[in-house]
Amino acid sequence: MLVQKYTLLPGTSYATPYYVAQSARPGPTAMIVAGIHGNETGSIQAARRLVRMLGTDELRLHTGRLVIVPTVHRRAYRQRIRGVPDLNRTFPRKAGQTAKHPLSAALFDTARRYRPSWYLDLHEANGLSQQNSKVLGQTLITDPGSRSVSAARKIIKGVNRTIRAKSQSFNLRLHELPGSSRTAAARILGARTVTVETGWSLPFSTRVQYQIDVVRRFLGEAGLTKS
Ligand SMILES: [Zn+2]
Repeated sequence: MLVQKYTLLPGTSYATPYYVAQSARPGPTAMIVAGIHGNETGSIQAARRLVRMLGTDELRLHTGRLVIVPTVHRRAYRQRIRGVPDLNRTFPRKAGQTAKHPLSAALFDTARRYRPSWYLDLHEANGLSQQNSKVLGQTLITDPGSRSVSAARKIIKGVNRTIRAKSQSFNLRLHELPGSSRTAAARILGARTVTVETGWSLPFSTRVQYQIDVVRRFLGEAGLTKS
């Protein structure tokens, strides 16, 4: 399907592409962002691959619109660093507040323009949540009381059924993180927001596969794709 390419902060050192695919049938908008942390390469690769899959019709939207920002912080990505300051603490904490970084400001303005009903923020983290309840690797995170809790639970159940190495199972975490893109999109835009965290200890291709699988399940849940 047709994928339109745009640029966030064009002409600046933060310039980064984003992509919009639109179905002929009206429906909800989903937004997927990756690379808020530049060293989380599995999630960045997954988002880039999703863009290519739209272009080749391997991923087709049945209704609605999908916005993908695959590498939010390209400067940090080039150096494979998390980024300083941590971009995921610079998003507005409440309506009327402005973001504390040009990138988070531009990203949040874009989200505000597209009014996504679903917002997925792709990340990677240490450890395996199935082995240690304190770590975030292999988790879906959403805010307590979020409208996305039931979808997140359903998706975890579905993904875990396909996982043979049970130590790699996903678990749900409920956590409010003021300044993060997830909590900003939930609090200010009212979107159903979820952070996807794959575990860094797993092989690269496995992490990319998990990210893509989780995203595809959310798109089905949101009604954008037909399974
Ligand atoms: Zn991260």
